[in-house]
Amino acid sequence: MTSEIYLDGNATSPVLPAAIDAAVHAMQVCYGNPSSTHTTGLQARALLDSARARARRVIGAGGGHVMFNSGATEGIQTAVLSALCALRARRDSGEPIGTLLVYGATEHKAVPQSLAHWNAVLGLNLQLVALPVDGDGLHDLDALRRLAPQAAMVCTMAANNETGVLSDIAGVEAVLEETACSAYWMVDCVQALGKFRLQLAKSRIDYAPFSGHKLYAPKGIGMLYVRDGAPYTPLIVGGGQEGALRSGTENMAGIAALDAVLAALEQGGVFRTHDQLYDFRDRLAATLRRAWPGIVFNAPLEHALPTTLNFSVPGLTSRELMDVFDAAGVRVSSGSACSSNKAAPSYVLEAMGIPAWRSGSAIRMSFGPLVDDATITRACERIERCGAILNAGGKSHDATAPYVLQLGSGADCSWLVFDGASHSCVVIDPHPEHEDRIAAHVAQHGCRVLASLTTAPRPGAVTLDTDSYGWPHGTDVLLFGGQRLQRADCGGGAQAYLLGTDTGGELSRAAVHHAFIGNAAPQQLAAFVHDDTLLCAARDEHLPLCHSLRATRRQPGDMDNGMHLDHGALRALLALHPNALLVDVREGGEHAASGIGAPAAGPDGRTVVNVPLGRLTSHIGAWLHSGVPLVFCCRSGARSARAAACLRRLGHPHAYDLAGGMALTMWPALPHAA
Ligand code: PLP
Repeated sequence: MTSEIYLDGNATSPVLPAAIDAAVHAMQVCYGNPSSTHTTGLQARALLDSARARARRVIGAGGGHVMFNSGATEGIQTAVLSALCALRARRDSGEPIGTLLVYGATEHKAVPQSLAHWNAVLGLNLQLVALPVDGDGLHDLDALRRLAPQAAMVCTMAANNETGVLSDIAGVEAVLEETACSAYWMVDCVQALGKFRLQLAKSRIDYAPFSGHKLYAPKGIGMLYVRDGAPYTPLIVGGGQEGALRSGTENMAGIAALDAVLAALEQGGVFRTHDQLYDFRDRLAATLRRAWPGIVFNAPLEHALPTTLNFSVPGLTSRELMDVFDAAGVRVSSGSACSSNKAAPSYVLEAMGIPAWRSGSAIRMSFGPLVDDATITRACERIERCGAILNAGGKSHDATAPYVLQLGSGADCSWLVFDGASHSCVVIDPHPEHEDRIAAHVAQHGCRVLASLTTAPRPGAVTLDTDSYGWPHGTDVLLFGGQRLQRADCGGGAQAYLLGTDTGGELSRAAVHHAFIGNAAPQQLAAFVHDDTLLCAARDEHLPLCHSLRATRRQPGDMDNGMHLDHGALRALLALHPNALLVDVREGGEHAASGIGAPAAGPDGRTVVNVPLGRLTSHIGAWLHSGVPLVFCCRSGARSARAAACLRRLGHPHAYDLAGGMALTMWPALPHAA
């Protein structure tokens, strides 16, 4: 298994060993209920009190309150509820409270969502306004100056989780002061704890939520600071725990663990110094620049946490980068929400006015202050290898054989027929969203595009050389790489394209191995193709990957029975069928990267061939009636399940997938395909 380098510290962190010990101690030894008055309870109470006292010191809580809760989302709710209840009471008593709920445009979603929720529940009808940020991600203080006189509550984070941008909290405070703003002020300190010194009581901040799992404590523990004198309404009432500020028996294991982390912060010596962290980040940034000289950092490093990098690489989507990093055992996160094919642009980067290609392809690399020199060194080595793999086009296949490439499986598909030997290709039904990827593929392989065809006519596409389908005038056939591509009339103006091995004349039905059918129904091709010709559609959400006439006659029923193999079932299958073929359907780059930093061997030392999902159709013909069992694998199990289901539908009964993917099954790193 590729050893893991965890560079996603802003999402969550592992738990500090001392925190694990403290949690175990709280569960095994000091397990009392701090509300009990017997000795066991008193011991737990002492632990709770000491943890709170330490928390107060670490965040500089002064005379303010610190209560333990489940995490920052709860802290944010509590702060917003408290402020909004107070506002309603003040308004009901005739006091002017302002009209605006102002939140930084790059806040964590929990903030605007909580504001909108409690504003509606409490019937306040205040207006939510996003405070703009500038290109560096810093709050627009002039805008705040204009909004502050009407603000009822202001929410600004101390450090951003996606970009690491450090807010100018002193600048925000100065504006609130100079405008005599009476708004309640919440500062989300989740990403700030442990990364710089906090002195909350020295500021006018009313509420500051914290989360344990961002700094080596477990998930489910957090705390909320409330300034002395700031209004408070409990979110949870009941037994009166936490001084009746937050009821429910305390999460003592979590509190003990958080206390151990705070002790490490307070005593020093455990976490790296700022200078060390800056040095680590600079080394990562320099390595990234070497790997991808065109890289763009999405937040100025001088304004960001020393533990966060957010970047985009021209020509690479976040998904492509993440997949390769993940295969290399480097855990990073996309700076945006990815669906299977599209990366939704990050709202944080959008708010900074960053161009769409960058916000849609951003990667966040973040680490915690416990990181060590050796980890950064190993990370740099792997980043360099990932760069080399991706810059080489992520190839792990024979670049000279003809092949069919499907882009956008699971949605709108574009199809490309490549011939590496003659460096030529034909594009079929190019979808606008795939334009860049098509161009990148063509450029990578130094190909000449013989034709860009569509299955439906586009009158605007007529040129001196081509008709409305993009088909070149004066020829009935395109010949390349020993392949023959010819047209078939599907009726109603629709055309299909038949691809087969060239034997000199018109393609016989038996010779057609692929048919690109656009939106035609498979049956419309019955006169042109044989039962196993692969029918490649312009959309494949209902016809996963590809189809065939034989498949259309099969009853859906229990075709997937026994298809998903767990580790034990995989071993049993391999013992029974030594000839089974293991197929890694990840992209070439992921496959190649999975050998980085790990021994190169499949289960039982078997070779694993790499056939990215988009190239599956090129191999199906050879596999279909071979009788060789096929086991598909990928990272999460999603792509491999589609491949296995496709093969079964087409008539291969012994197609399987590795359930849960390599993320769950201890399948060792994969060797490069022979
Ligand atoms: N605020 C920020 C800045 C965060 O990064 C997060 C977590 O991603 C949260 C709030 C929510 O924290 P929790 O997971 O403790 O609810």
